[in-house]
Amino acid sequence: MDRRFFLGSAAASLALPGCATTMTARRPAAAPTGCLPPVLATPDRVIRTLAGLRPYRAPGFVVRAEALGDKRLVHNYGHGGAGITLSWGTSKLATQLGLQGHQGPVAVLGAGVMGLSTARLIQEAGFEVTLYAKALPPETTSNIAGGQFHPFGHFRRSRVTPEWQAQFVAAVDYSWRRFQIMVGDDYGIRWLPTFTDATEPEEQLIPTFPPRNRLLRPEEHPFPWASATSFDTLYVETGRYLRQLMRDIQVAGGRIRVRDFATPADIAALPERLVFNCTGLGSRALFNDEELRPARGQLAILLPQPEVRYAFTGGDGYMFPRPDGIILGGTFELDEWDATAEPATIARILESHRQLNARLRCTT
Ligand SMILES: Cc1cc2nc3c(=O)[nH]c(=O)nc-3n(C[C@H](O)[C@H](O)[C@H](O)COP(=O)(O)OP(=O)(O)OC[C@H]3O[C@@H](n4cnc5c(N)ncnc54)[C@H](O)[C@@H]3O)c2cc1C
Repeated sequence: MDRRFFLGSAAASLALPGCATTMTARRPAAAPTGCLPPVLATPDRVIRTLAGLRPYRAPGFVVRAEALGDKRLVHNYGHGGAGITLSWGTSKLATQLGLQGHQGPVAVLGAGVMGLSTARLIQEAGFEVTLYAKALPPETTSNIAGGQFHPFGHFRRSRVTPEWQAQFVAAVDYSWRRFQIMVGDDYGIRWLPTFTDATEPEEQLIPTFPPRNRLLRPEEHPFPWASATSFDTLYVETGRYLRQLMRDIQVAGGRIRVRDFATPADIAALPERLVFNCTGLGSRALFNDEELRPARGQLAILLPQPEVRYAFTGGDGYMFPRPDGIILGGTFELDEWDATAEPATIARILESHRQLNARLRCTT
């Protein structure tokens, strides 16, 4: 199951007395003990609500090269609920496919996380790049993402091939290493201990991810769950991150052009002979890929709470605390094309988080 595919029913509320609102100092990062500061999930703390359409493909993301007239076209799209996580990794695979033997300027279509990462890797390899996109940050799906590094919600296991699995593992490995060297305020990336409502340990995708991955007994964690896993991972403040990537591209001489491509013929008319397609959900219409479907996610963003330094995903939704707000999710609504947050769904998200927070326990 995708851990982001939930919006649990509201559980019975049981407030436990004696929970202080600060975490014990100098605890290890994973599985903190003591009393976790609760998230104040009340309607008066909501600063905005959002809905975004994940570019979901049951057979997995597409990283592949093909000919388009006299051009080479390299696809890099269809990352579902894991596009931030996989961005450096699949962009690396795509550039390795496309740049080999190439000379001259390069075009990238799309200015979400995939287009921006691909453009940076092309520049790092020494090529000139022009990025063409219908919409730029902050008007992309990538800006809406919660920003947890964890590759969930982007494929169906029964539909993927061993070759795709190999691409997936290689992508996780490269992305994981690349994000680590970007941690800090300039890119808005930080580590947080993370809890998951689970009865089995997290899958260890590569030897180093997830790190400090543990299955916890009920008395070892503060949540009203039978058992939980805890691990450390990275969180990306997507607005700040994408803004910084745009700057990086421009500082390195990259050009950014607003342009809408209606058909492959529009792409074939570009001056560049090598083109990377990073149009996310736009690839469905542009390349007639009917496997690519929207999976709507709705979020409530609350006033920031700097004291909240843990994240969780569980049956009652997910909570990622960021400097720009506390992100409460979420839904996974397949084939829903309307990117509008619905008040009733947002109210349900808030209520399930309020009830979960009321049931947090202190651990020793
Ligand atoms: C609510 C929600 C929560 C999420 N949480 C996470 C998370 O915690 N972690 C994680 O890893 N991922 C998460 N995701 C998934 C992530 O946001 C996506 O996988 C990712 O943003 C896809 O990036 P992209 O660059 O492919 O697409 P986009 O960000 O959609 O960018 C596509 C670009 O292509 C352009 N484009 C499209 N069509 C055309 C066209 N015809 N002509 C010209 N330009 C075009 C667009 O204008 C845009 O610039 C979440 C998504 C949502 C909605």
